[in-house]
Amino acid sequence: MEYQPTDSTDLLIVGASFSGLTLAYSVHNPGLRSLIVERKRRLWSPSTGLITPPTLKLLEQVFPFGIPIIRAFTSMKVIFKDVGEVLLSSREPFLFLLDKDSFFSAAEEHLPSSFTLALGCSFVKTENKTAKVQTHYTETTIRYDLLVGADGALSKVAKSSGLPLVKEWLYGYEWKISRPAEDDFITFVVDPTVSRAYGIWMFPVNGGVRIGLASKKPLRKIDVQSIMKQYFSFDGPLLDYKGGAIPISGPVRAPFKEDVILLGDAAGLCGPFLGDGIQTAVKSGIAAARAVEQPNVGPSYVELLKKTEVTKYLKQQALLRSIWDRFVSKNTLKRLYKFTLRNQDHLLDDLTTIKEDPSSFLQIARKFFG
Ligand SMILES: Cc1cc2nc3c(=O)[nH]c(=O)nc-3n(C[C@H](O)[C@H](O)[C@H](O)COP(=O)(O)OP(=O)(O)OC[C@H]3O[C@@H](n4cnc5c(N)ncnc54)[C@H](O)[C@@H]3O)c2cc1C
Repeated sequence: MEYQPTDSTDLLIVGASFSGLTLAYSVHNPGLRSLIVERKRRLWSPSTGLITPPTLKLLEQVFPFGIPIIRAFTSMKVIFKDVGEVLLSSREPFLFLLDKDSFFSAAEEHLPSSFTLALGCSFVKTENKTAKVQTHYTETTIRYDLLVGADGALSKVAKSSGLPLVKEWLYGYEWKISRPAEDDFITFVVDPTVSRAYGIWMFPVNGGVRIGLASKKPLRKIDVQSIMKQYFSFDGPLLDYKGGAIPISGPVRAPFKEDVILLGDAAGLCGPFLGDGIQTAVKSGIAAARAVEQPNVGPSYVELLKKTEVTKYLKQQALLRSIWDRFVSKNTLKRLYKFTLRNQDHLLDDLTTIKEDPSSFLQIARKFFG
């Protein structure tokens, strides 16, 4: 849809990805005038789109169209650098690959009529409940009652409003390589020299494989080809590059002020250890939608978010990351390898449940360290 200039709105959402769209689909107040501005010309997300079964269910609850899935995975090979590898399996699929292109086209097509979507329109800054936004040709100011920063890890909304910023992130990159896929599972490489805790992932897609890595260094400083040659028995030009920041400092201290709230990655709601942020982005969008119907939006949002246990889960991951960052060594990798072997039969199921029940996270950590 072409950008329609407007000079005031009740709700101004910046960013139309998982968190911003969830908010739009979850607000049930047709009287609320709402505008979503998205700087890209089409809806898109840098994420791989790997989601757990509970995340799929959640998406099905929020969006009134079939959630398109490319494939389901029941196995994962984990390679521990210079130590060994383990093939894990689950009885039911433990991960689904979302068809993001179809998902975002459907989300655009079915957007509730009370929401206007302005594509190719960037938020620039805010002052006194007025936001400056710009398209390629024009610059407009929009007055709002509530501003929502759903604009990712490097949130301009947070910066411009004086809200806390995500302090640390990894650079996440992904490519497609055209080659026949031999394996049917996801491969995951734990290589602390690429990035602590998670490193490289690879899985088959139609007509090729997708390879991604999360690195502490920006792309120009890493030799991707040689890293990949080290682990995979194939080579080839890297096509279809995309990338983005993965927040790893955990939830920001206060994701709100009087007339501004932050969702998803902008609020640091992405897994500092696993890099999983779709489910938490969606949960933050749902919490924000409920909060919008209440008098003190910001505090209500934080309370509602707490009830989902999202912040608890991510704080645990942040703790695990800081422990890992200090103590990772060949010995830790050996222990993790042995731990993975011992728990081979149920580790994938455990990893799925910790999202829903953060207390099981501590149990898994105890099993590892105990
Ligand atoms: C390479 C990579 C792979 C990943 N893989 C997975 C995965 O498999 N599973 C998983 O759960 N998570 C994954 N993640 C994390 C996941 O992508 C995020 O946690 C999730 O997308 C957060 O959603 P969000 O809506 O908060 O923010 P984003 O998806 O980052 O969306 C922010 C939106 O705001 C827009 N925007 C930004 N600035 C402005 C502005 N100034 N004006 C207007 N619009 C703006 C952007 O264009 C974007 O559309 C991955 C991340 C990366 C980088």
